[in-house]
Amino acid sequence: MSTMPYRRAPQGHPIRLLPEWQHDPYHARRKWAEPTRCPDCGAVFRRGRWQGGLAPAEAAEHRCPACQRLADRNPAGYLGLRGAFLQAHRREIEHLVRNLTGREQTEHPLKQLMGVEETSEGGLEFTFTDPHLARSAGEAIQSAYAGELDYHYQDSEYLLRVRWQRDH
Ligand SMILES: [Zn+2]
Repeated sequence: MSTMPYRRAPQGHPIRLLPEWQHDPYHARRKWAEPTRCPDCGAVFRRGRWQGGLAPAEAAEHRCPACQRLADRNPAGYLGLRGAFLQAHRREIEHLVRNLTGREQTEHPLKQLMGVEETSEGGLEFTFTDPHLARSAGEAIQSAYAGELDYHYQDSEYLLRVRWQRDH
């Protein structure tokens, strides 16, 4: 992973994604009936998108793309955090990420936090069902705590890796 070409996102500059980098394979390959209800998270597919709310009893049932990613354990976004500053502010930084992702999911059911794990070097790694959530979370941390933010993605792949580090 360390050999991947990461790009630096300077403070105050958003992570730049190419406009054509937009095609989630979990979305593009499927056509759902309307309405369809996700049995896992309760999101409802109607008027062409997955959203919150109640589904009528006759709704079809099918996992939404986010819950399918959870079932497959196949994240679309990673956010890795490390450095001495993280050790000292772990709780509040994790709280910031959970807060942000909770808010996002309320508005956009497909943007979900999948999990958070401790890495071997004492860092944290968050995984997300949506790459844009990894971007927002990384940018929110840099905006709150400065530090270094960099990122990696390939045009051919719907996957964004973001790293944040602050050493003092
Ligand atoms: Zn779902």
